[in-house]
Amino acid sequence: MAHSSLASFYGRILATSLFVGLALGAISSPLHGSAEAAAPSSGETDHNSGSLDLLMAGNRRFVKGRMLHPDQTIGRRQDLVKGQQPFAIILTCSDSRVPPEVYFDQGLGDIFVVRTAGNVINDHVIGSIEYAVEHLKAPLLLVIGHERCGAVAAAVSGGHVAGHIGSIVETIAPAVKAAAGKSGDPVANTVTTHALLTAEALRTSDPILAAAVKAGHLTVLAARYDLDTGRVELLKENDPAGAEPLPAADTKAQADHAPSSDPHAATPPAAHAAPAPGAHAAPAAHAPASGH
Ligand SMILES: [Zn+2]
Repeated sequence: MAHSSLASFYGRILATSLFVGLALGAISSPLHGSAEAAAPSSGETDHNSGSLDLLMAGNRRFVKGRMLHPDQTIGRRQDLVKGQQPFAIILTCSDSRVPPEVYFDQGLGDIFVVRTAGNVINDHVIGSIEYAVEHLKAPLLLVIGHERCGAVAAAVSGGHVAGHIGSIVETIAPAVKAAAGKSGDPVANTVTTHALLTAEALRTSDPILAAAVKAGHLTVLAARYDLDTGRVELLKENDPAGAEPLPAADTKAQADHAPSSDPHAATPPAAHAAPAPGAHAAPAAHAPASGH
């Protein structure tokens, strides 16, 4: 997709921003166990929640300063020589304060990470994500904005920026417009709006990502990282300016307290344990897949 068509595509997403919340609600409701929410359509299932649970457990460890630093042994490194099977894809900002491998307490081969300033997307970013979905079968994509993002702040403040930085600011501009007029801090509002719009753009990106979502092989969610607490919060479905805590944030995942165990071997909650027919391999499986 050329830059101009991508911009146009992004614009269409903005024009239908009302549906962002609706789509997010349909996808993330099962993750929150909302009984009254409409059942996901188009083959959506919650089988990808196992990946989310692994990330959340790791983030809880990070917030508490009780990291396990899993999958960083020589053995793990050697196991991965033949290939990788990351259980999630993370698109986030290049900001040096927000490395997802650290704040999710993950190791080698666990998460497929794409980072750009302001977590903006272009063809290279989408192609990278498509690779992780199509060839590595990663079942979950999280788009994570973060508190006090400099790229977003630059887009909000407007004005001239030098060099290629302008293309980043331009990509965030639709979110600035969409968040304008909301109460509260404009940068914080734009961070969340931008993450939601980006997630929706990826969720509906043809040909690969939209098809994977429709087939129930991929879940795309937007989130926000808090610089002060280190906590990752899923964004509230119907309010791009708001956020809500991740599920079961303060209840013990067994991995939190079992330094000797492999957190990736932790059994997901029963409600999330059964993959849908034809679903990808469970995230706990680390059998190497195809190489990169
Ligand atoms: Zn940033």
